[in-house]
Amino acid sequence: MNYTPAIDRLERPLRDLRVSVTDRCNFRCVYCMPKDVFNKDYRFLPRAQLLSFEEIERVVHAAAELGVTKVRLTGGEPLVRRDLEVLISQIRAIPGISDISMTTNASLLTRDRARSLRDAGLQRLNVSLDAMDDETFMRVNDVDVSVRTVLDGIENAAMVNFDSIKINMVVKKDLNDHSILPMARFFHGTGHILRFIEFMDVGNSNAWDLSQVITSGQIAAMINAELPLRPVEANYRGEVAKRWEYLDGGGEIGIISSVSEPFCGDCSRARLSATGSLYTCLFATVGHDLRPALREGDADAVRGKLQALWNARADRYSETRTQTAVVHIRPKVEMSFIGG
Ligand code: SF4
Repeated sequence: MNYTPAIDRLERPLRDLRVSVTDRCNFRCVYCMPKDVFNKDYRFLPRAQLLSFEEIERVVHAAAELGVTKVRLTGGEPLVRRDLEVLISQIRAIPGISDISMTTNASLLTRDRARSLRDAGLQRLNVSLDAMDDETFMRVNDVDVSVRTVLDGIENAAMVNFDSIKINMVVKKDLNDHSILPMARFFHGTGHILRFIEFMDVGNSNAWDLSQVITSGQIAAMINAELPLRPVEANYRGEVAKRWEYLDGGGEIGIISSVSEPFCGDCSRARLSATGSLYTCLFATVGHDLRPALREGDADAVRGKLQALWNARADRYSETRTQTAVVHIRPKVEMSFIGG
């Protein structure tokens, strides 16, 4: 049965579903889960409030019928949730889903775990790494996990042949911008795509300020001065990162410029929280609870709810961020609650 693809009010199709499987993480990155907020008194979601794998599978199934082809597993840190392989193999079996990826800090990614995730059907990995030296990295992640630990996770993943491994570095001025070139030098020629992410005002806890943003233009210029680059065409409409390749054949980098060059016009991403709420923007202030449709309705009810939510969507936060002094009545959802 073919269903009408979900198209929002800005003519953007629903293509990507990011699924947060937990709000917990073993890191306390200052741009996402700063320790002063996410401390020992912070009340994380009790397991009973998390969607079951079967419920996540039903949401993904409905989303696939509306046009979703890509699913990304996120958190918090997804690897802190047990038995992810079960969920991955369930999603793998859904008609229409052609791409399953995961964003992780790789600190828990042993060789065996990488193998079992790959065998379950996980195709691509995005690994967060924000510096090459321990002093800076520990200042960013705030939990004393070393660069070596994450590099070991990346090597374990490389040994089991994921389709791609991308490295995500969030760049914040006067925190880790001095690591831009060391990161570029390290991943140059490795075949892994290093992506730089402009520091964003996600959630309400990271004390974001525009003056702390190193723009994509500045990042590209910094690298180009040592490792000459040229821009490359996007792989597809809605690709988040701007692509650059090294003139010397040393591979590719990407830059995600939500602040200096917003890309809302092609945004085809929806986000599902671990509690079953759908968010139509990373900077949303409201989530839409799918549990009533999931628990009292049938597949038509879930699909109908998703379609109605997406068709009513008009989000373009990043395009409005600097144009107007947008005063937020309601706090934005935390990135750790819906994944990046
Ligand atoms: S700000 Fe919202 S609408 Fe714009 S690209 Fe990000 S998630 Fe999409």
